[in-house]
Amino acid sequence: MKIHEYQARELLKQYGVPVPPAIVVARAEDARAAFETLAAEHGVTLAVVKAQVHAGGRGKGGGVKLVKSAAEAEQVAERILNNPLVTPQTGPAGVYVAEVLVAAGVDIDHEFYVGIAVDRAAGCPVLIASCEGGVEIEQVAAADPEAIERETFCAFGGLQQYQARKIAFRLGFAAPLIAQAASIMQRLSKLFLETDASLAEINPLVLTPADHDHPHGRVVAIDAKINFDDNALFRHEKIQSLDDTSQHDAAERRADEAGLSYIKLDGNIGCLVNGAGLAMATMDLIKLHGGEPANFLDVGGSASEEAVTEAFRIILEDENVKGVLVNIFGGIMRCDVIARAIVQAAKLVGFEVPLVVRLEGTNVEQARQILQTAQSDIPSMQIGTDLTDAARKITAAGVQV
Ligand code: ADP
Ligand code: MG
Repeated sequence: MKIHEYQARELLKQYGVPVPPAIVVARAEDARAAFETLAAEHGVTLAVVKAQVHAGGRGKGGGVKLVKSAAEAEQVAERILNNPLVTPQTGPAGVYVAEVLVAAGVDIDHEFYVGIAVDRAAGCPVLIASCEGGVEIEQVAAADPEAIERETFCAFGGLQQYQARKIAFRLGFAAPLIAQAASIMQRLSKLFLETDASLAEINPLVLTPADHDHPHGRVVAIDAKINFDDNALFRHEKIQSLDDTSQHDAAERRADEAGLSYIKLDGNIGCLVNGAGLAMATMDLIKLHGGEPANFLDVGGSASEEAVTEAFRIILEDENVKGVLVNIFGGIMRCDVIARAIVQAAKLVGFEVPLVVRLEGTNVEQARQILQTAQSDIPSMQIGTDLTDAARKITAAGVQV
């Protein structure tokens, strides 16, 4: 599960990580008031208006703008709130922006990256840090892998002080700032472990220039991204309540409600499969035969006829879909349920595109009967005798369309 930057900042604050003061608003006129409040309470003369969306790279897409007055804050918020935001991570259609954060502007001397993720190979969490912050860490990793520090740590003990200090030192923090930087990393580690996060990133973590009150500057988090492990959400009610479902893809949200695992992809062959492993194998076979899957869809082991019909609806409403491959290995899921759902979907939505069905397992004879009877009503349907045959048939049909 993903959350917005303003929610991630609250969590950071709870764990004692310094963040600049900020106010989240949903209307442009409130952005004006937010600037005025920040000016009155914190002496702010420079602020940043930031689009709150579940995607990064907002700076590059015009979703992060510096403003010098309340009027300018309103103007910028007006523009951001009324246009879809396109960033390198959103796709060309962009995403809808419902809220903006008005945050106090911070003078920046240097931008760092610190993040915690799960190191699957090592089987433990890992602190990743770089003195080249502000840009995507993947980019730094590709261009300058030497600039990335990694420190794995124990999931029970958390990141130890000596580890955090070592990384702070390597990032180049001056001696008087090592303790500050290290403490932020340790707090981030505590947050990561206690909330069952799968990723907790501060990018950038900034060093401010020296001033009268801070002769060596200050270390402050000005952007945060935290993702949580869905499988652990049941034990974090508060975090669950932070979910902003308006940011989910509409089709993925519908699938979720029907208890289906659906992920939209870029190809044109829709797949309806039971079991994640079989779904992966089906997608591989489609690719092997020169096609591109339009989605990953696992109807699971015990979906009802209604849920499977909904699955067909979701697939067929995707205008990229030029063919559909159904691949079911009936175990607990009975083949006749799928066959009935095909007949139902044909009635409700209609199969305008080629459909190839490969069924095996529980009640397969009954399912074949149902499909045979319905064949004249679904002329675009072909039966695949095995998985390879089905993949060949659908890619051949898909190419013709
Ligand atoms: P994203 O990662 O989505 O592009 P960020 O919040 O990291 O969004 O903002 C992008 C850049 O904008 C930062 O790297 C930083 O240079 C600048 N920026 C963001 N917030 C502030 C702030 N409060 N004060 C000054 N500069 C900021
Ligand atoms: Mg950022």
